[in-house]
Amino acid sequence: MNEVKTPKKPLIYYYGIALLVLLLFNLLVMPAIRQSEIVEVDYGTFISMLDEGSVLEAQLDESENVVYFTEGDGSTIYKTAMVGDQELPARLLDAGVKFYGTEIQQESSWLSVVLSWLIPIVIFVGLGQFMAKKLRDQAGGGGGSMMFGGGKSSAKIYVKSSEGIKFSDVAGEDEAKDNLKEIVEYLHNPSKYTEIGASMPKGILLVGPPGTGKTMLAKAVAGEANVPFFSISGSEFVEMFVGMGAAKVRDLFKQAKEKAPCIVFIDEIDTIGKKRDGQLGGNDEREQTLNQLLTEMDGFEGNSGVIILAATNRPESLDPALTRPGRFDRRVPVELPDLQGREAILRVHAKKIKIADDVDFNKIARMASGASGAELANIVNEAALRAVRDGRKVATQADLEESIEVVIAGYQKKNAILTDQEKKIVAYHETGHALVAALQSHSAPVQKITIVPRTSGALGYTMQVEEGNHYLMTKEEMENKIATLTGGRAAEEVKFGLVTTGASTDIEQATKLARAMITQYGMSDDFGMVTLETVTNQYLGGDATLACSAETQAKIDQKVMELISRQHERARKILEENRAKLDELSEYLYEKETITGDEFMSILNRK
Ligand code: ADP
Repeated sequence: MNEVKTPKKPLIYYYGIALLVLLLFNLLVMPAIRQSEIVEVDYGTFISMLDEGSVLEAQLDESENVVYFTEGDGSTIYKTAMVGDQELPARLLDAGVKFYGTEIQQESSWLSVVLSWLIPIVIFVGLGQFMAKKLRDQAGGGGGSMMFGGGKSSAKIYVKSSEGIKFSDVAGEDEAKDNLKEIVEYLHNPSKYTEIGASMPKGILLVGPPGTGKTMLAKAVAGEANVPFFSISGSEFVEMFVGMGAAKVRDLFKQAKEKAPCIVFIDEIDTIGKKRDGQLGGNDEREQTLNQLLTEMDGFEGNSGVIILAATNRPESLDPALTRPGRFDRRVPVELPDLQGREAILRVHAKKIKIADDVDFNKIARMASGASGAELANIVNEAALRAVRDGRKVATQADLEESIEVVIAGYQKKNAILTDQEKKIVAYHETGHALVAALQSHSAPVQKITIVPRTSGALGYTMQVEEGNHYLMTKEEMENKIATLTGGRAAEEVKFGLVTTGASTDIEQATKLARAMITQYGMSDDFGMVTLETVTNQYLGGDATLACSAETQAKIDQKVMELISRQHERARKILEENRAKLDELSEYLYEKETITGDEFMSILNRK
């Protein structure tokens, strides 16, 4: 798409530079010019000029021990050193010369007038004109000039073009696409809707975690409808000066109305659309910008042909006034892709690279559970890069599998030197996880175990891959998961009778799960179905804030500890009962460093 960019720097910036140049000129250049007009002569010349009567005025500067004097028309200043001549005042009096103890005024020549006044003014005006022209050019000659130019919207305009993104480029996300297809239909054929009296939503909010294709969907709507697409990020509205953001909003809507039908896309709308809390010291600029946005959205008719799409991953922080019907009437969830979605996204991106025919996309999609569209695109690209690194012409299944691990755990560390004992501990740790997972029912099958250190700091890991889509988890499954997480530490204890730092991430994850079971999912007998924590930002890490008293909080901590230690005990028991298998599998893993789930299962099932 062709992109026309508008300027960012306000005019005040350029005037500031011009002023600085002017000051520097007067401070540095002018004194030098004046200095150069002073002619230095010896004392004898001075006396003889005095005797001739050609001296007009003199200034005796005793602090500097010099005499400045002028002759004739006074245009040249002479300078000579004072030589302790006691009779000088008398001589000056005799010659009828006016003399002072202070600086004498130089009769300004026309040249110095020109230099000190005209040139700076010319520079100042010229620079101003130049900058203003540059600004006008960049802004595409649009609109009346705003004071300091800060009111210009910096929306990027994508002019319609044949190679625009289409819905077919966005894989999965069928519900979101269905929803947006209606908009495209409307932009193609508005009368179909207006005849019956229906009006299109003015605004549509795309809500979902980062990298799920919200921007892509908005571009696809513009591409399908073949209309201009204005794109701006919420943060670009917020300026240093109060009122500038509001001016930008006005300008954006003005431009959009001129170009209607068109699509305006505001990315990260939460930066300006945050709830107004009215607290002292709040962000006035942001609030004014939001107020302007609300006013503008009310100000145009539903059928004017301007459709506003906005994206956010923090919907809970948006001001209710913004999300009410009549503004952003519709909310379209753009969630992380499910198994089919992931497979489709992988296929779309795989078309861009050369890839072997026998790649099992379904398996890759299963391995990349929880990955967003952007991560999947990255996985495919990493696979292609790996193929190039190995000097191959096409990417293979192994490239894709390795790049998933790169995305999860970082690159393999080539020169991490573990001692023999450490390597053994890591082998037991990972086998512990895998064995506890495999010996419980309702656990995802083990796909791969490795003890090759990674750049993320992981010394090894066990990859479990679900068979299909999984939307609900039972209490038992969650407990099993906690037991699996504690399995690593349990194996260290069972075999070596010691504990290491290797279990820190396991501990963190197990605690998070156990806490969520009690505070969010109502899975404890003591508290029942009571919300004890509310999730504050669902799409960005899912942080939770406490919604209970301090006493309850203490009890929750107690219950979390009990739950985890119960599962830890269970994991240890499983491993103790299967001690022979633990040893056998760990030895095997120690030898091989990486084993597949199939190898693991065949050793486990061997009599
Ligand atoms: P968001 O705006 O939700 O953060 P983007 O739309 O910017 O995410 O997506 C980032 C990149 O991820 C896209 O350029 C694209 O390569 C890839 N991507 C994300 N979702 C999809 C999808 N559903 N289909 C194809 N590619 C996708």
